[in-house]
Amino acid sequence: MDIPMWFWVLCTGLFGLLAGSYAGAQVWRLRARQLVADKAAGETYDKTELRRLKPLATVRTRDDRSRCLTCGHQLAWYDLLPLVSWLSTAGRCRYCREQIGWFEPVIELGLAAFLIGSQLLWPVELNSALTISQFIVWVLMSVPLAILFAYDAKWFLLPDAPMATFIGLATVFAVLTLTIDGWSWLGVLSVISAVAAIAGLYWVLHAVSGGRWVGFGDVTLGIGLGLLLGRWELAIIAVFLANLIGTLIVLPGMLRGKLGRGSQLPFGPMLILGAVVAYFWGQAILDWYLGLL
Ligand SMILES: [Zn+2]
Repeated sequence: MDIPMWFWVLCTGLFGLLAGSYAGAQVWRLRARQLVADKAAGETYDKTELRRLKPLATVRTRDDRSRCLTCGHQLAWYDLLPLVSWLSTAGRCRYCREQIGWFEPVIELGLAAFLIGSQLLWPVELNSALTISQFIVWVLMSVPLAILFAYDAKWFLLPDAPMATFIGLATVFAVLTLTIDGWSWLGVLSVISAVAAIAGLYWVLHAVSGGRWVGFGDVTLGIGLGLLLGRWELAIIAVFLANLIGTLIVLPGMLRGKLGRGSQLPFGPMLILGAVVAYFWGQAILDWYLGLL
């Protein structure tokens, strides 16, 4: 029986919405735990934010996100449908009419679009257990990556828990890629060189700046992204694109004579974007560039 492509794309999109909804909830939970930990450690923290998010730090996982963060009203199943609930109330809480914000629909739609794009652009034909497993690992990996992306964009920090999940899955991804390509020392060296190219560069920047420009989280993220890219050429393109994206974000502010948010810039989201572009179009960029020379 032949299942049409649009059906798989639809499934991927729906999974992306659900995964995005989960990732969004995880971001708030991680933030709540972070604030509680900051308070316990005697560090400065946002008191209003902690009061708002505190219930999330203590609830059991299965009760997660079951209340409105503003009025505390218990949410019903129809309030928790990805995208649909948000659209049905025009982005407001059904009970207190308070704005929920753009975060949830953006992360849900973002992950759905990312996964559909991945499926359509996937470079390897999904015709064997190995190649299908590799794609499934990519899909699973998108969840911790989305959490890291959103968390770093919001609070300039890459939390440990999703990072560990990401590194674990990226290792499995690298092993599957090596298996599909046929194991060779050259292949293994290639993966090591990709990891060294990204993580090494960020480690140097981290060491030189004493952790001020580049946090250690960026170094760890570089290890995962290097495992995923598997080739040092692609790793260098990813870093180049990340810097390009960063410059494009900073430039308008610099031209207006001011830098937003204390001239600090989260490297995580830019590096993730750079790596994704490098994964799908890196070879094309490389061919184009070498053609110029
Ligand atoms: Zn409410």
